[in-house]
Amino acid sequence: MITVSPGARITSPDWRQLWRDSITDGRELLELLDLGHLADQWPAEDAGFALRVPRGFAARMRRGDPRDPLLLQALPQLAELAQVPGFVADAVGDLAAREAQGVLHKYQGRALLIASGSCAINCRYCFRRHFPYGDEVAAAGQWREALEHVAQDKSINELILSGGDPLALATSKLEELGRGLADLPHVTRLRIHTRLPVVLPERIDGPFVAWLRSLPLQKVIVLHANHANEFDEAVDAACARLRDAGATLLNQSVLLRDINDDADALVDLSERLFAAGVLPYYLHQLDRVQGAAHFEVADARALALVEAMRARLPGYLVPKLVREIGGDPAKRPV
Ligand SMILES: *Cc1c(COP(=O)(O)O)cnc(C)c1O
Ligand code: SF4
Repeated sequence: MITVSPGARITSPDWRQLWRDSITDGRELLELLDLGHLADQWPAEDAGFALRVPRGFAARMRRGDPRDPLLLQALPQLAELAQVPGFVADAVGDLAAREAQGVLHKYQGRALLIASGSCAINCRYCFRRHFPYGDEVAAAGQWREALEHVAQDKSINELILSGGDPLALATSKLEELGRGLADLPHVTRLRIHTRLPVVLPERIDGPFVAWLRSLPLQKVIVLHANHANEFDEAVDAACARLRDAGATLLNQSVLLRDINDDADALVDLSERLFAAGVLPYYLHQLDRVQGAAHFEVADARALALVEAMRARLPGYLVPKLVREIGGDPAKRPV
């Protein structure tokens, strides 16, 4: 959507405004998709994790298709209420890896900051849907505790911003972090894991790009897209701006039953990513978080899908199939 301001200058709407304007009512989402007849069966319980979808992302969902792969990532299902053995609140041992406020340090050389507790979209499969963000956000108090921790540990050369979604923070908050990092010469890389360039590409605005470009570090941005349909021209443009600011772009996906668990969908995703200048990095087996059991794909099927990708794609477009196991020194290959 483009708005024309009084001076007849074309400006995109402010991303915060678009965020506030997100869809939070499942009935409204279903009506928009010409699925109003299903709204009678709604509201399904949201299991304590509210529905949230930016309108631009909803516009990429197919109308009239209750199995749309983008809709299924966002719409609460009754299956979330099932208690399935082995599916727990802290599926990957995050609470055990906490070293300072919002700092998780599991792997050699890399510290992960839970930068923000917010996301522009609430993904039903998310492994952090039960994480106690309230007290655990690294950005609190000018990032002080987190930066002090990283200052003390000279083995950390890569800082990873995760969340929630770190780009949910105001650019001024990111600038604050950038200034703190200037005093930490052992940190040479900044990595940002974010779904915002895909679900709300307007977030990649001028001030953010200027900040990113100004950082005297190597910059890696790991997008989270699970299906080729998540891309459109606005997302392509956001990716181009990120690359232009000097960032290397990677993607990680989660293998999700009925959403992307077929070879065509995965091949299309890799091709679409590369068309946007993004390399596939990880394909994650689902973290076994309570409420997400219905998305799980068996390992044997996951391996067969990756084999099928290998037969059809150049090696650089085949992501690594991994799973996160609490206590492991790295993501574990499946
Ligand atoms: C996944 C993860 C990382 C990054 O792992 P890579 O394999 O380097 O992508 C770092 N820290 C934590 C706590 C993680 O969960
Ligand atoms: S942390 Fe990522 S996967 Fe989880 S809800 Fe937020 S955007 Fe979705």
